[in-house]
Amino acid sequence: MTEPIKTDALIIGAGPCGLFAVFELGLLDMKAHLVDILDKIGGQCAELYPEKPIYDIPGLPYITGQGLTDALLEQIKPFGATFHLQEMVEKIEKIGDPEFRVSTDLGKVFECKVVVIGAGGGSFQPKRPPIPGIEAYEENSVFYAVRKMEQFRGKRILIVGGGDSALDWTLNLAPIASHLTLLHRRDQFRAAPDSVNKMMALVGKGKIDFVLGQVAALEGEGGRISKAVVKTNDGSDFHIACDALLPFFGLTMKLGPVASWGIEMKDGELIPVETASFETNVPGIFAIGDINWYPGKLKLILSGFHEAALMAQKAHRYVFPNKRLVFQYTTSSTSLQKKLKVK
Ligand SMILES: Cc1cc2nc3c(=O)[nH]c(=O)nc-3n(C[C@H](O)[C@H](O)[C@H](O)COP(=O)(O)OP(=O)(O)OC[C@H]3O[C@@H](n4cnc5c(N)ncnc54)[C@H](O)[C@@H]3O)c2cc1C
Repeated sequence: MTEPIKTDALIIGAGPCGLFAVFELGLLDMKAHLVDILDKIGGQCAELYPEKPIYDIPGLPYITGQGLTDALLEQIKPFGATFHLQEMVEKIEKIGDPEFRVSTDLGKVFECKVVVIGAGGGSFQPKRPPIPGIEAYEENSVFYAVRKMEQFRGKRILIVGGGDSALDWTLNLAPIASHLTLLHRRDQFRAAPDSVNKMMALVGKGKIDFVLGQVAALEGEGGRISKAVVKTNDGSDFHIACDALLPFFGLTMKLGPVASWGIEMKDGELIPVETASFETNVPGIFAIGDINWYPGKLKLILSGFHEAALMAQKAHRYVFPNKRLVFQYTTSSTSLQKKLKVK
């Protein structure tokens, strides 16, 4: 087994509520690690609406999704939380009273006193393109994310899509691929214009190919692709020889493994909590933000912030069972100000 990473709190989800949990835990001297399946921090705010305005964060009349994420990151800086991105928490095991072992799909293991589930609407998962039999090639030669670029060195790569991920990976993988083709169904892109220009420049220099069309079928054996059958917009077919297919068709939110963690669930998708500390039916496991349920719950960021503050008070009892907790204001407490590195 991999050497476990020991921490006071393991936070599942780096959305706004997971981020603010770092702050509330940090004020009470608890260290946190965060795991998120996305390749970026900020949950829905950063993934779904980075440029949209939010008007109901107390004290901030206007802030964008990305702006709020950046501000939260600035606010939690003093507490030095560690982020583990592009990893999905798969399993939570109880190993003490309370103490937990939490494992990710990449084999990382954490041992912690408390678990804070801030998993929102669930994990963002890639949309599977409608190609018959694609499942047989997944994880072998079809990949929905690039976790290690080296894996693609010297390979014939076919990237499909017209968004930022498709274009970014086209630009990043072009120098190490033996051959790279970008396939998109039209010649307009959702990706940043600068990336599109850079991609077109590579096409102009003959370094990569850009083809209009859609993958209709895959051919290969034992999970290894040898070619993709591409249907062009005029209805004709042709083959592209490739070793790896990377479709980037966007993300969808699925609950993912949350339901298998042995915690009581409501309607199969939300985690009921009590409202004094937002603890689940398992002592030491808390749920905050969009993932939890209690009478009157509103799926608003400000609700999750309040939940994080009360969660930290109860978590303190588990992490420091012999320490008395004294309530303090950041405005007047020099000890809190030292932790915030403003004194
Ligand atoms: C278009 C839009 C506009 C909105 N506008 C507003 C608004 O104006 N005001 C407002 O208050 N709210 C707004 N919301 C809602 C707000 O974004 C959510 O309430 C908020 O994001 C919830 O935060 P969270 O931290 O609970 O979860 P999320 O932001 O959903 O983050 C959860 C994170 O957990 C990760 N995760 C889940 N499962 C796992 C796992 N097993 N392993 C690892 N990681 C996992 C996910 O990848 C995700 O990044 C809006 C939402 C949308 C979609």
